[in-house]
Amino acid sequence: MNTKSLLAQHHRLAAAKSQIEFLENSTQISFGEKLKTQNLFPLSVKPLEIFQINVGKMCNQVCKHCHVDAGPDRKEIMTRDTMQLCLTAIEKSGAHTVDLTGGAPEMNPDFRWFVEEISKLGKKIIVRCNLTIIVANKKYNDLPEFFKSHKIEVVSSLPYFAASKTDSQRGEGVFDKSIQALKMLNEVGYGKENSGLTLNLVYNPAGAFLPGDQAALETEFKTKLKSNFEIDFNHLFAITNLPVSRFLEYLVRSENYESYMEKLIGAYNPVAAENVMCRNTISVGWDGYLYDCDFNQMLELKTEVPKSKQHLADFDLEVLQRRAIKIGQHCYGCTAGAGSSCGGTVV
Ligand code: SF4
Ligand code: SF4
Repeated sequence: MNTKSLLAQHHRLAAAKSQIEFLENSTQISFGEKLKTQNLFPLSVKPLEIFQINVGKMCNQVCKHCHVDAGPDRKEIMTRDTMQLCLTAIEKSGAHTVDLTGGAPEMNPDFRWFVEEISKLGKKIIVRCNLTIIVANKKYNDLPEFFKSHKIEVVSSLPYFAASKTDSQRGEGVFDKSIQALKMLNEVGYGKENSGLTLNLVYNPAGAFLPGDQAALETEFKTKLKSNFEIDFNHLFAITNLPVSRFLEYLVRSENYESYMEKLIGAYNPVAAENVMCRNTISVGWDGYLYDCDFNQMLELKTEVPKSKQHLADFDLEVLQRRAIKIGQHCYGCTAGAGSSCGGTVV
C-alpha cells in the first residue's frame, strides 16, 4: 500500500485540473444534460443548513480511496485567523450544524479551540474522526472525553467489520486500532442507548462497485460488531466512492474507470438528484475559500459567485444563496441508487 499522497508522488492526477480534464473528456451523457431531463438544471441551492469545514489535509492515514489526497505529508492546515472568519460567517449564516472534516481534523493545532468557540454559538457539531487518531499518540487519548464534553456527533469510517477489507483500504493495523478507539468511545457513552452521544459509522465499498442497501448493512455491522467486539454505534451511513483524487487514480490504474462511470450513470436516481447535499451545505477549504461540497473543493471548483465573494472574508449569504451549483461528471456519484452524501443515502 502506498504511504504517500498523490501530491508527494508527483502523480499527474494530484492536480485538480488533470482530474477534471479526465472526468470531462468522455462521450458519456453529461451530468448537466441528465439534470435537464428533470428541469433541475442549473442546480439551485436551498436554505443553508450545514457548514462543512475542512480544517486541513494532514492525516495519520493514507487510505487508498481518499478523495482529499490526505496523509502525513500534507501540510495544508487552517489557521486560527481563518477559523475566526468561519465563526463570523457561521453566525451570519443561520446554519444549524457545523461539520468538521480533514484530513484528521484533530491534528490541526487549533482544533480544540475551534470546537469550543463553535460550541459557544450553540450549533450542533459533527466531527469526522478517523478513529485511529484517538490511539495514535497519547495527546489524543482524551478525545472521547473532549467530544463528550461538547456533545459532538462523531462520524467515523469503518469499511468493514473485519480486519482484511478495512486494512486493505485504510492501511495495515487500522482495523485493530479502530476497534480500540470505538471501545474508548463506547466507554464514555458514545453509541450507547439514552446517552445522547451519537456515534455513526461510514461504510464505503472496497472497489469499483456501488454500496449495498444501507439498512441491511447497518444491521449486519451492528450484529457483527456487537457479537465479535461488544461495540455499539447508532447509525451506519453507506457512501458511494466518487471518482475524485485517489479513488479516480485507482479506477484508472485498475482499468475500471469506464465501467464504474457506466454503473453510476445507469443507476442515476432523479429523487437522489433533488436531494444532493450541496443544496443545503457550504464547504469551506483550509484556506477559507468556499465550495459547494468537499468534492468540488478537492477539484478546486470554487462557488459560482463573483470572485470577490468566493472567500470567507467576504462571506455574503444573499449572493451565495442565489448561486448555481458547479457540477461535473463526478456528481453522478451522489445520484446513483439511493444517492450518497456525507450523511449516507438521500432517498
Ligand atoms: S479517508 Fe480520511 S482517514 Fe483516510 S486518508 Fe483520507 S482523510 Fe485520512
Ligand atoms: S459532487 Fe458535490 S456538487 Fe456534485 S452533486 Fe455531489 S455534492 Fe453536489
